[in-house]
Amino acid sequence: MGKGLLQTEVLAILLLAGVACAQPPLPAAQTPTAAVGQPPGPTPASTIPAFDTDRVMATIRFLAGEIGTRPAGSEASRRAAEHLVAQLRVLGYRAETQPFTFREYVDRGSELRVVGGRPVSANTLRDSPAGSVRGLLAAAGLGRPEDVAAADLRGKVALVQRGAITFREKVRNAAAAGAVGVVVYNNQPGNFRGTLGEPGPVPAVSISQEDGTALAEQLKSDRLEVELAVRAEVRQVADQNVVAVRPGTSGRVVIIGGHYDSVPDGPGANDNASGTAISLELARILAASGYPHELRVILFGAEENGLIGSAEYVRTLDEETKRRVIAMLNLDMVGVGERLRLGGSLELVNLAVELAANLGLRPERLSSDQAGGSDHVNFLRENIPALFFWRPDDPAYHTASDRPENVEPARVEEVGRLAMAVLEALARR
Ligand SMILES: [Zn+2]
Repeated sequence: MGKGLLQTEVLAILLLAGVACAQPPLPAAQTPTAAVGQPPGPTPASTIPAFDTDRVMATIRFLAGEIGTRPAGSEASRRAAEHLVAQLRVLGYRAETQPFTFREYVDRGSELRVVGGRPVSANTLRDSPAGSVRGLLAAAGLGRPEDVAAADLRGKVALVQRGAITFREKVRNAAAAGAVGVVVYNNQPGNFRGTLGEPGPVPAVSISQEDGTALAEQLKSDRLEVELAVRAEVRQVADQNVVAVRPGTSGRVVIIGGHYDSVPDGPGANDNASGTAISLELARILAASGYPHELRVILFGAEENGLIGSAEYVRTLDEETKRRVIAMLNLDMVGVGERLRLGGSLELVNLAVELAANLGLRPERLSSDQAGGSDHVNFLRENIPALFFWRPDDPAYHTASDRPENVEPARVEEVGRLAMAVLEALARR
């Protein structure tokens, strides 16, 4: 136990920290410590900070206003990480950046044209190699091995329909049969955006069902030559997480975090300077409270590129550590809009919903099809219990308007208080 406090004292102090920012204070019968059945010990409350929304807003202004747009790999992202490391060190954490690199596929657009005919609107199939090819178009069913075997694809561009097997398999099968390019047409109206999931063998695009069926129909009577061009670029991006640790005495670990990167299009005040700043504030309160569990404050890089930083962090955890984590709290987009949604491990969601009621909040439960959008997913995959806080109604989402002045202090405070209540409840485990 840090700072020479007994467990009961710590609980009382934690409770005070939570109540200090509550308005109105919780009725005594509903306070979490009531269940402990022990009188509060001496409470040097003056040394325990309350959740300070002004501090959170100042951090948001610094990250999204002073530093601004901070996509993975940028100088701004490095500056933000260094600032966060410095802040966490001041709070008494052992903090450092955790560097990582990843491969980024940059789609610069694709074109498909019938030679001597009209252009066809096409989307790059992500991970397709860049390049231009020209050849006869040949229909190859669904692109299954039996389909490509029945069509002569050598030196041709394969036209295959979406469905039955993955895009990767379709492209692989067609290329193995000699195709120099692949066009996948949708099996429902309109076009779509697909991904191969690994570098593909030949240029590949998707087109709409309407265009695809028209081309397939034409091929029954005509020879069609097409030109297919995929413009894309693959870059190695160097980025970093912020990893901060404060030892505990219980043998258990609680992780608090969120991503600090933004999309390239805007400064990411709500998404996600808000979650980063609240994490920092929780880190401050808990460090001063003698929290019994080891605390890890992890601020993730490259979330917007596909949850890259959190995947990297989880990859570095050994099995013994993973088993010691009792909760990972992920705060992402929590400062704009009235509605609050909670997702993740059922037991933690239940706990948070119950505690929210004490605070006069009515969070919604995330449906499982919405639960996959942020960093906690990488923890859940490793069976680490996780709780996701998210507000779904930001009109400035992923735009240049996601600025600090649009973040609502009252919304920040609600989430801060709820997260604090959850952390207090977890302190008794
Ligand atoms: Zn986000």
